[in-house]
Formats: sequence, C-alpha cells, structure tokens
Amino acid sequence: MGSEHPRPDPATWWDHAACRGANPDLFVPVSDTEISRLARRTCNECPVKADCLDHALNTPGVHGIYGGLTDHERRNLRRRIRRQTTTNGATP
Ligand code: SF4
Repeated sequence: MGSEHPRPDPATWWDHAACRGANPDLFVPVSDTEISRLARRTCNECPVKADCLDHALNTPGVHGIYGGLTDHERRNLRRRIRRQTTTNGATP
C-alpha cells in the first residue's frame, strides 16, 4: 500500500500536509486520465501545496501526485520553466 508515493522529511512542511493520513494509493494514479478527484481536491486545499510541488520538481525519482500535479503535468511545467528561463536569458 502506497509505498510508491515516498514521503519527504517529516520534520519540515510535510507536518502540515493535507494528505497526511490519507490513503497514499490515491496519489499514485494509474494514468493521467484516471486521477483521483479526492487527491486533486486534497492538494488544491493543502496549505503546503507550493512546498510540495517545489519538492517534487527538485527531487529526482518522485512519482505520483505532488502539489496537485501528476508526473506528466510536472514534466510539462519543467519544460515551460526551462523555456521561460532560456527566453529571459537566465541560467536554468
Ligand atoms: S499538495 Fe497534495 S500531495 Fe502535496 S502535501 Fe499537499 S495534499 Fe499532499
């Protein structure tokens, strides 16, 4: 159960995560089209959503819904960020 949605260091923002105690399997969707509405809603109401997304974007091998985004959505976000930083002349 849920071992594929690794938990970050519990001494930090994770203490305030809205999904603490929730079934972790809800946060590992079978596909992008079968994302749990409950997981999505939980993330959207989570007070540490930005921290969670930042963690997922900067931690290799993270799999599942983090910060309200799936793996595929985070890949797209990374691409957009890279494109933007390249366009703005900043180093990614
Ligand atoms: S944003 Fe979602 S996955 Fe991340 S801590 Fe909050 S509820 Fe959990």
